[in-house]
Amino acid sequence: MATTEKKEKPKKVTPLLELPKCSKTTPSPDPDEYGDMITVVVGSGEEMRKFYTYKGLLAHYSTYFKAALKDEWREGASKTVELKEDNPEVFKAFFHWIHTGKLYFALDASGKIPLSQMLICEIFVFGDARGSPDLCNTAIDVLLQKTHQEWRVPLAEAPYVYQNTLPGSALRKFLVDDAVETYRFERLSDPSQREHELLRWPQEFLAEIVVAFVALGSTPIPSSAGYGTLSYNKNNWVTYIKPLICSRYHDHPAPPA
Ligand SMILES: [Zn+2]
Repeated sequence: MATTEKKEKPKKVTPLLELPKCSKTTPSPDPDEYGDMITVVVGSGEEMRKFYTYKGLLAHYSTYFKAALKDEWREGASKTVELKEDNPEVFKAFFHWIHTGKLYFALDASGKIPLSQMLICEIFVFGDARGSPDLCNTAIDVLLQKTHQEWRVPLAEAPYVYQNTLPGSALRKFLVDDAVETYRFERLSDPSQREHELLRWPQEFLAEIVVAFVALGSTPIPSSAGYGTLSYNKNNWVTYIKPLICSRYHDHPAPPA
């Protein structure tokens, strides 16, 4: 029987944006220093997951684990760390990252980054809370790649980000910059949608957007500069933002003397 059903055209996925390799990334530890195996129990109830990895890897990449796994502490002696409040999906990304330097194993079948913008924001917050600035830097890189791939400003994530980061955080900065550089605030221009739109966003976020626009002065907005098409805007933004990532959003603490 002949079918008249139209085959859905597969949507074209934007290829992963290549980023310059950050020259200040912490080098991986010597496998001789890996030490004991540690069990990390993440989440609770049905969501709970156990991860097994080396003490030396956890301690190398996170000041939190370095402190918690000292032999004199309960966690160090029992070789088990419990993170009941944490999201196992976030820890999974951290687990991948300490072993491979990447937050995920591979792109999904369609070529997309297999993490949502929200999850990437959660990974940043985890890195912040667990003393892992390199994880935060990687999360920013991936959020930028994801934003480029989806061409969607992470606005819905702003309330979570402002609740879970401090002023001056690189993640807040990225959200504000991205809104200013690429978002056109159509719904704010429409009086019937304005109230709803304003309720979605933290006041501090809006204030920072206003301040950023004032600071632009007569400088054209990098993505639009007064022109129309989407790909033009996108390419402009990428050319502008790529060389700035390390200096603007990465945190590279001085190595201990
Ligand atoms: Zn960097």
